[in-house]
Amino acid sequence: MKYKRFVLSVAVFLLILLPVLADEPENVMKSINAGDIFELNKILASPDMKGRLSGTDGYDKAAKWTAAKFKRWRLKPVYGKDFLQPFEVGYNEMRETHFSVILPPKDKEEKPQVLAMEIYKDFCPTLYGGFGQVEADVVFVGFGLTAPELGWDDYRDIDVKGKIVATLHGTPQIEGKDFSKYVERQPKLDSAVKHEAAGLILINRAVVSGSGNYMEGLPMVMVGDKVANLLFKPKGYDIQSVKALLRDGNPLSFETGVKAMIHTIGAHHDKALTFNVVGMLEGSDPELRNEYIIFGGHLDSMGPWPVVHPGASDNASGSAVVMGLAHAFSRLKKRPKRSIVFALFAAEETGLRGSKHMASNLPEFPSKPILMSNHDMNGVGTSVYVAGGKTYPELYEIILKVNAKYKINENISGGTISHIGGNSDYVPFMEKKIPALSTWVRGGQRYGIHTKEDSIYVITPKIMEDIVRLYFVAGYQFANK
Ligand SMILES: [Zn+2]
Repeated sequence: MKYKRFVLSVAVFLLILLPVLADEPENVMKSINAGDIFELNKILASPDMKGRLSGTDGYDKAAKWTAAKFKRWRLKPVYGKDFLQPFEVGYNEMRETHFSVILPPKDKEEKPQVLAMEIYKDFCPTLYGGFGQVEADVVFVGFGLTAPELGWDDYRDIDVKGKIVATLHGTPQIEGKDFSKYVERQPKLDSAVKHEAAGLILINRAVVSGSGNYMEGLPMVMVGDKVANLLFKPKGYDIQSVKALLRDGNPLSFETGVKAMIHTIGAHHDKALTFNVVGMLEGSDPELRNEYIIFGGHLDSMGPWPVVHPGASDNASGSAVVMGLAHAFSRLKKRPKRSIVFALFAAEETGLRGSKHMASNLPEFPSKPILMSNHDMNGVGTSVYVAGGKTYPELYEIILKVNAKYKINENISGGTISHIGGNSDYVPFMEKKIPALSTWVRGGQRYGIHTKEDSIYVITPKIMEDIVRLYFVAGYQFANK
């Protein structure tokens, strides 16, 4: 009698449990909610984390907090015991920056007109500029490039020694000429040093500029259109006419007749320790567990100087998405066949350094990366854009099917991806021939990116829930194929 009752209860138990297990990913998906992911985003963007600049204690705190979550969710470390993959970076402690434009006097009786520019409105510091003070004539040098193999030299016939050079963001667009290796900022910085400039004005937007190598002895600022127009006016140009001329392949360099003063106070720290945070869910299949998908995004932001840059959208949001995925996968009782690696990268803003470090030091186990899914700026807007969806459709097509079945997001689109000219953490993985997707959000404003305004108040939590739900179910199916 007792035995029969036991068999019966086991049978009833299994009848209840089996459908639950069969739909386990669906149930976990339904438990993913915007509030939990928003909470992760909020903590990473809090004043406690001091803008998460790689090399500083604010970043260390964020990395250790993330690692503790990975441990609590019972992920396995991939490098060492503590989920941290260390490497060295340099960083700038930019305590104070001042920038003035000095207009020439209208006649001999008048004095030059000194216009103090406003930080975060007219100009911003860079994370790689040198320290000191320079006051000098401003020479405009087009795109600031010397590319003899392409017949282009913005420094031809112009002397900039001891002067402040002003250069426009970007490269010439000339049919049949490939300027892609000059897309990054570094060639402009190197050219300015080579021609012995004493300061540099990058004309782009009044936001903090990240990617570049420390340029000792070259104070610099990045400015928006207002400053550019002040510099161009005495020669009868404005930002529009200058851009139009250069875009059409006409080199344009000239002495502006305007002076400027750049003053920066702070220190450069060489060789500071920083960390990627990496954890994994080991696959359940004895063979296929050696293959893995990486979900990654950068944990760092622009730091605490001269004020804290919370980096809520860029990229506490993508970090929260990757963590939300890690947490969801860790709740599965039945793990997928392939392994899944969750990576939060250091030092993206200072030049994709963390993802480069990981892509060059891939784990011994699991050893076969089959896809990298990058998440950068996943927190503001209403629709999902998947770069690479058209280049590597394997996961993207599953995402579309999952979305159609569960009606998660109303507006998903995809496009191609390339590592050439790319500027987020998928690039170093693509360079190692690993297929990659990079997801970002559309339908919202890119408000305050790389300024102090990128705070938690710009975040729209529902879109992060959509992304985590989509990539969780699609990732599960892809890892199980
Ligand atoms: Zn970013």
